[in-house]
Amino acid sequence: TDARLVAESKQPCVSLDGQAVALLANSGLQADAEPGLRYGAEGIGLFRTEVPFMVRASLPSEQEQADIYAAVLRQYQGKPVYMRTLDIGSDKPLPYLPAVQEENPALGLRGVRYTLDNPALLTIQLRAMLRAADGNDQLRLLLPMIGSSGQLDECLQLLDDALQALRQEGLTVVRPQVGIMVEVPSAIALLPKWRDKIDFISVGTNDLSQYLLAIDRNNSLVSRWYDALHPAVLLELQRIVSIAAAAELPVSVCGELAADPQAVVLLLGMGIRQLSMSAAKIPAIKYLIRHLTVAQCQQLFEQACELDDATAIRALLQAFIDQQM
Ligand code: PEP
Ligand code: MG
Repeated sequence: TDARLVAESKQPCVSLDGQAVALLANSGLQADAEPGLRYGAEGIGLFRTEVPFMVRASLPSEQEQADIYAAVLRQYQGKPVYMRTLDIGSDKPLPYLPAVQEENPALGLRGVRYTLDNPALLTIQLRAMLRAADGNDQLRLLLPMIGSSGQLDECLQLLDDALQALRQEGLTVVRPQVGIMVEVPSAIALLPKWRDKIDFISVGTNDLSQYLLAIDRNNSLVSRWYDALHPAVLLELQRIVSIAAAAELPVSVCGELAADPQAVVLLLGMGIRQLSMSAAKIPAIKYLIRHLTVAQCQQLFEQACELDDATAIRALLQAFIDQQM
């Protein structure tokens, strides 16, 4: 029952063969950060900062942003909070910023493409985050939609400029760990070249699948084709894990796959040990992980790699889960 799942969600997330898996919560508002704590989240793995922007009638000031971010950091005191810079554009427009008409919004001005075109917006946000962190190391900075070295370098330069400016203003600030969302396929091949520039990666399987499969993640006309357990996506995920391991970059998954029981079996099997999901999903995923062995997951991942479509892969995994639970 749900009550049993919730009760057990206070237990450590360790598989039957002793592998620890970190479960973190996705959040966008202070209100939805709270259930994560109740379910034993080890931190916020993805704070979508565009959400507090979207629920307002006007652009929040630096001070208003700093207050919002500080409240979330306080709520998760002692735990990491991965804050993503604004990921607006495409399916997430802001009513009070000039609307851009685009033929292909998903391929257009979104994520860091948008904020690097509006560097004042990004600078204010970075300043607000750094001020909210108040000199402690809880904040992790996460950059969305990075697809080229130029984009990464421009973001890092704005971060260093913001740090310097705040120090000149007499504030105590520390440079946070910085990572990128791996969600634009062109980022994957560049990860080895970025190993000294970033501290971690977080795989955004929602967009990564959209861009690998060339299927709009929000278009119901094609949703029956949109399945992130497509063998091509799994192959890329495995590639990301092995590149990240070679580059010694910690890797987590924060897209919807992290909350999909069938997918979680494969993610553990390919070596992922950190997952971030909407808080409500934590109890069920923790229950699953506590009732399987990673050795089984590795075997299932190998079997899944022999199959040629998502439906067959899901059937294989569901049979395992039914037998396990
Ligand atoms: C993703 O793309 O998988 C992701 C986590 O980011 P968002 O869903 O906010 O685009
Ligand atoms: Mg995304």
